Amino acid sequence: MIQLRSVSREFSNRRGTVQALLAIDLDAADGEFVAVVGRSGCGKSTLLRLIAGLLPPSSGEVLIGGLPVTGPRRDVAMLFQRPALLPWRSVLDNVLLPVEIFGLPRSEHREQARQLLAMMGLDAFHRRLPHELSGGMQQRVALCRSLIQRPKVLLMDEPFSALDALTREELSIELQRIHLEYAATVVLVTHSIDEAVLLADRVVVLSPSPGQVRTVLDIGIPRPRSLGHDAHRPDLARLSAELHELLLASSG
Ligand code: ADP
Repeated sequence: MIQLRSVSREFSNRRGTVQALLAIDLDAADGEFVAVVGRSGCGKSTLLRLIAGLLPPSSGEVLIGGLPVTGPRRDVAMLFQRPALLPWRSVLDNVLLPVEIFGLPRSEHREQARQLLAMMGLDAFHRRLPHELSGGMQQRVALCRSLIQRPKVLLMDEPFSALDALTREELSIELQRIHLEYAATVVLVTHSIDEAVLLADRVVVLSPSPGQVRTVLDIGIPRPRSLGHDAHRPDLARLSAELHELLLASSG
């Protein structure tokens, strides 16, 4: 479904050129959950923006469903660290925003939006404004907004990093449920090794300067997984330890 073929991206600024990513080869199969970890500045966000079509590669190509990515697509949704809800619109109207942007009939999607909010335990809040909700609830609204367009690909850039530990754990569990239900291909960028091991089928470790694929680890632990229940599993502890070692060693 997602294919990166020798993808490089550089940025020029006044001090010269930064090679953010170099010769990245990566595939994510339909319905696969891939986590990308690496130190700050190793090119994780750039990688996601390339897949989202928000940024063109300097060389190489990005394909989704066999077609080159030339810009944002309706079947690819992106979730950021901050929910970025429009403060003057109700929760329901925020969820329906992509429907308006893509010029789809609002009436047909209203019921689906209510169902998504219900799935996230937020239906009672559909008339509220974003500032009346907690950070975790706002991020759930943003997740509903990503799902309203029924994406085949869901890209997430540190979506839980602004939330407290328990809310992160709750949202991680919901995300696994959504992934199973929607069968979307997910690419998650995260700082958290625990989150990567909990959620992903494969974890891609990037090394910095320039950002390159250092290793790809398979996480063959049955789903659904929970840090609470599974933290003691020796295979999970071993994978987490291995990832820690890899990240410590990839100081560039
Ligand atoms: P990460 O998400 O892993 O923290 P980024 O993808 O944000 O890393 O950045 C990778 C590198 O590319 C960094 O050195 C960063 O400074 C540089 N970079 C990213 N975006 C730009 C930009 N728009 N202009 C200049 N340099 C950039």
